[in-house]
Amino acid sequence: MSITKNLQHIKSTLPENVTLVAVSKTKPVNDLMEAYNAGQRIFGENYVQELVDKQPQLPNDVQWHFIGHLQSNKVKYIAPFVRLIHGVDSLRLLQEINKQAVKNNRIIECLFQVYIAEEESKFGLDEKELSEILSSEELKKLKNIKLVGLMGMSTFTDNQQQVKKEFQNLKAIFDKYRILKTENCELQTLSMGMSGDYKLAIDCGSTMVRIGSSIFGSR
Ligand SMILES: *Cc1c(COP(=O)(O)O)cnc(C)c1O
Repeated sequence: MSITKNLQHIKSTLPENVTLVAVSKTKPVNDLMEAYNAGQRIFGENYVQELVDKQPQLPNDVQWHFIGHLQSNKVKYIAPFVRLIHGVDSLRLLQEINKQAVKNNRIIECLFQVYIAEEESKFGLDEKELSEILSSEELKKLKNIKLVGLMGMSTFTDNQQQVKKEFQNLKAIFDKYRILKTENCELQTLSMGMSGDYKLAIDCGSTMVRIGSSIFGSR
């Protein structure tokens, strides 16, 4: 199957309110261009250097999402153009994103990554940490970021019941905190679901899916 066919197929299965992020990490620019020519505008990358290399090679109307684990010292490289940062997992990182957004005279949209899996290796905040940051005075001072939602990754397992439980848990947290609206915080986006579990994620309330291998082939 071609990238174009894969994309068309996936899009035909997505409800209207669900945004597709085409995860293009490790894939060559030619593959991204094929997806672009098929109408795809939102691309997700995991590695800062790779994103910085690819960005000038694609047309200007591409919206770049950073979906990997972002180190504070690398924020400055993507701050001039990044559209949405999915994996924010500390106030410190958010403060650095704000600082770099100020320098670039931009507002950068962010999602908090919430830890929902059973695996030790996954990053993210637990609900208590999320709640603390959302109610902190420090958050209110950050005028150049906007918190627009939450992101989560389920455990890598074939156990659909477990994955479902984790997605439902994240949806419940999302619903609980979306009533908190402030100037720089309004949770509207729930980023959950990848190639193997996006249908289940959508059933559980996802509004943004991050799909790589089902579009571009295995890595
Ligand atoms: C790689 C990656 C994806 C896409 O995974 P696929 O299984 O290839 O669809 C989605 N989200 C994150 C955070 C990733 O690192």
